[in-house]
Amino acid sequence: MTSHGEPEFRFRQLATWVYARLESRFDRMSDLPLGLRSALDQSHEIASLRVAAVQESTVDGTRKFLFELRDGGRIESVLMRYDKRTTLCVSSQVGCPLDCVFCETAKGNFLRNLTAGEILDQVCALKLEAGDLERKVNVVFMGMGEPLLNLESLVAAIRVMNDPLGLNLGAKRITVSTSSFPDRIRELAESDAACSLALSLNAPNDETRRRLMPKAARFSIAELLDAARYFASAGRRRVTLEYVLIPGMNMSDTDADELGALSHGQPFKLNLIPYNPARRDPFPRPTESEIDRFTTRLLPVAPAVTVRRSRGVDIDAACGQLWNASLVEKRKPVKGAA
Ligand code: SAH
Repeated sequence: MTSHGEPEFRFRQLATWVYARLESRFDRMSDLPLGLRSALDQSHEIASLRVAAVQESTVDGTRKFLFELRDGGRIESVLMRYDKRTTLCVSSQVGCPLDCVFCETAKGNFLRNLTAGEILDQVCALKLEAGDLERKVNVVFMGMGEPLLNLESLVAAIRVMNDPLGLNLGAKRITVSTSSFPDRIRELAESDAACSLALSLNAPNDETRRRLMPKAARFSIAELLDAARYFASAGRRRVTLEYVLIPGMNMSDTDADELGALSHGQPFKLNLIPYNPARRDPFPRPTESEIDRFTTRLLPVAPAVTVRRSRGVDIDAACGQLWNASLVEKRKPVKGAA
């Protein structure tokens, strides 16, 4: 606004249009002078994503959006509505370079990091779709990509989400999920982006973790949990440890005991995620009794254990099922397939 020779209050007006009213057209911003509206229209663009496809779950109403970026790249984002909350699951990269064996996302190629604008665009587009502008949303960075490999844009986007003139969301409402990178976990803790952290642990020891997440396991579980403790004490909130339950890989009684020992008395919460079969089903889905057995064994020892009931499974919108349909021909064979 200053560079357009406008007084500072115009910024407040513009921010209200963009983030509170989710208006993406300058010509509809009725309290801005006409000349300014057309000048902004020449120099700036608000929404950069094009909706290429939408799928809706017949089971739970979850909606998955395939967005096309200006350079033709494609990402997926998911809108989940519950009685008392709305959760937006957003992507941080086009594809993912990490290639965990149980996750579909990296089966396409990794193309690039998203910009802060593209991350915010997903949040705004999904919030608009959710319909209720007054209602605060929860944002989880659990879509495509590894958010901490795009730290600069991640922090910039979260700061706008935090800002009272932006989306006005506090640390409790924004969760960054990461698979690794202890130094970057510390950097995020020290940044001025207010958010919560989830760590995709997925294995109770380094050997199993190397088998499931070969690239993420470059750092040891000990180093990662140290960084997670640091994050927890900096933000004074517990860090969630995510643990995908995969029969035959990480669900034995010994696995449960090891996981219990790792987390006992620590500033963590444990979120168990029953494995959602990927397109080529490298692993079987855990049965309810297998899930119960593992959970029951952990409960007396581990802190705050919950089981995540993934939504949108029928439209491949659940954890680990997002991928880049346009990259189908470039898919690599599924590693670790039984
Ligand atoms: N790359 C980040 C963000 C993705 S979050 C991360 O790894 O944390 C996606 C969550 O879903 C992670 O906890 C991941 O471990 C989990 N996940 C991946 N594939 C899955 C699958 N097939 N079934 C269930 N959960 C899965």
